Parts: sequence; structure tokens; C-alpha cells
Amino acid sequence: MKCSPHQAEAVAVCAYCGRALCADCAKPSATQRMVCSDNCAAALARNDQALELILQKSLQSARASAFYSYLCGGLSAAGAVGAYFYLPVPFLVWFTAGCGGVFIASGIWYGRIAKKQIGG
Ligand SMILES: [Zn+2]
Ligand SMILES: [Zn+2]
Repeated sequence: MKCSPHQAEAVAVCAYCGRALCADCAKPSATQRMVCSDNCAAALARNDQALELILQKSLQSARASAFYSYLCGGLSAAGAVGAYFYLPVPFLVWFTAGCGGVFIASGIWYGRIAKKQIGG
């Protein structure tokens, strides 16, 4: 593979547009990836920012999901205890307790996702 402006052997490809780059045209971008031009460097930086934003949003939603799962789990567990004392129907007690367990398990699951995303 050769770069088109210099007809020299390519050492890398542009991280944004995929053009072949020789040692002369390769420019390191802010993220240490090789790009062919400032335009591609800027576009790459924009992409990274967009990705960062998506990651942060999914992190927030994972946190919110964890919170609501724990909340629903707690309410279901309280419902199970209440049912046990005031309305001792085995099905009702097991059902609400089961729901609580499922919600708490998914709360733990979402909490793990949120933690993983912090670590990168
Ligand atoms: Zn490029
Ligand atoms: Zn070149």
C-alpha cells in the first residue's frame, strides 16, 4: 500500500478516513492515532466526544436502572413481609418475594455495569 500524494510506502492508515499514510503524511492526533489531515483529526476528536457522551449517558441510565431496581426490590420485599403478616396467602407472599429478588438481582447487575464503565 502506498500513500497517494508521495507515492511512498504507507506506514499507517488514517484512523478516520482510512487513507494510506507514509511517514511524511501521518500526523498523530490528540488521541495518539494517526490521521491524514487536521480535518480528520478534528472529526476524530468529535467522534471521541460523541462516544464519551454516549458512554456517560449509558452510565447514568445504568445507575438510574440500578436505583429503580433496588427501589422496586425493596418495595416488593416490604410487600412480601406485609402480605406475610396481614394477608398470609402463600402464593402472594412467594410472588412478591420473588419479584423483590428479581428486582434486587437486576439492581446488582446494573450496578456492576455502572462500575465497569467508570473503570473504562
Ligand atoms: Zn483522513
Ligand atoms: Zn505521504
